[in-house]
Amino acid sequence: MAGLLFIISAPSGSGKSTLVSELRKQVTGIEFAVSWTTRAPRGSEEDGREYNFTTRENFQRMIDDGVFLEHAEVFGNFYGTSRQSLEEARTDGHDLLLDIDVQGAAQVRANTPEAVSIFVMPPTPRVLRTRLRNRSRAEGVVNEEEVLRRLREASKEIENYREYGYILVNDVLDRAVAQLEAIVLAERFYRNGEAIAFRSRRVLEVAAGCLQANSQERVKPVLEAFGLLGTVGQQELKFEEDSDDD
Ligand code: ADP
Ligand code: 5GP
Repeated sequence: MAGLLFIISAPSGSGKSTLVSELRKQVTGIEFAVSWTTRAPRGSEEDGREYNFTTRENFQRMIDDGVFLEHAEVFGNFYGTSRQSLEEARTDGHDLLLDIDVQGAAQVRANTPEAVSIFVMPPTPRVLRTRLRNRSRAEGVVNEEEVLRRLREASKEIENYREYGYILVNDVLDRAVAQLEAIVLAERFYRNGEAIAFRSRRVLEVAAGCLQANSQERVKPVLEAFGLLGTVGQQELKFEEDSDDD
């Protein structure tokens, strides 16, 4: 049986990589597609592990050669998923997880409508700013301009949440990890009839609670905080002038 295709998207700094890395510790049989990118590696990143790092020239050549299943420009750099990742997962019968931005997700969904898509939201812009700053600090480069750029971009990305089947609000990490795991197990159960043992009822309930249609209560405060509901949507996000360090 062919594996499932999962797509996960989130504004940068929401905690998507953290969630995916926790998921991989807890759930077997799911491969992670290593994307290609033209951005420079961050502190602890290794070529071939987090990303395949390459030059813009080579990336362009790969586009021309039709190597990519999808590709997009994000924050001035190119990112792309190779067709080979999908083909290998299909051959091996593994599930595949794509960590891609909203543009890439739209391209994949257009060709593979059965893909299971998950959108991760940060609880508030303030929390997102803190996470972006902490990550920069951990890498030894706090670039406030880059943090602000990613914050502004976050609101635009969140506007696309309706395109996704499941919504996670990454507030308490353990809860978000459990929800992500439940989504994967529930989808396996529904698609493949895969047993999820005695935990099954709870797992199915948790996953169902994350379906977009059932997420309005959790999503509304996030949209409000990002100024995406009603008239507040016209305002600039307030934290931009306030330089508090949370
Ligand atoms: P992304 O992959 O979405 O860009 P990361 O996984 O790199 O984000 O997370 C950004 C920062 O936020 C990291 O320093 C990470 O440790 C932290 N983080 C992630 N999830 C949580 C959470 N639920 N609570 C607190 N900090 C978190
Ligand atoms: P970062 O540079 O923080 O690792 O990633 C920036 C953004 O690029 C994130 O939204 C991430 O999901 C996205 N991204 C990573 N790999 C790919 C990819 O292969 N394709 C697309 N479209 N986006 C990607």
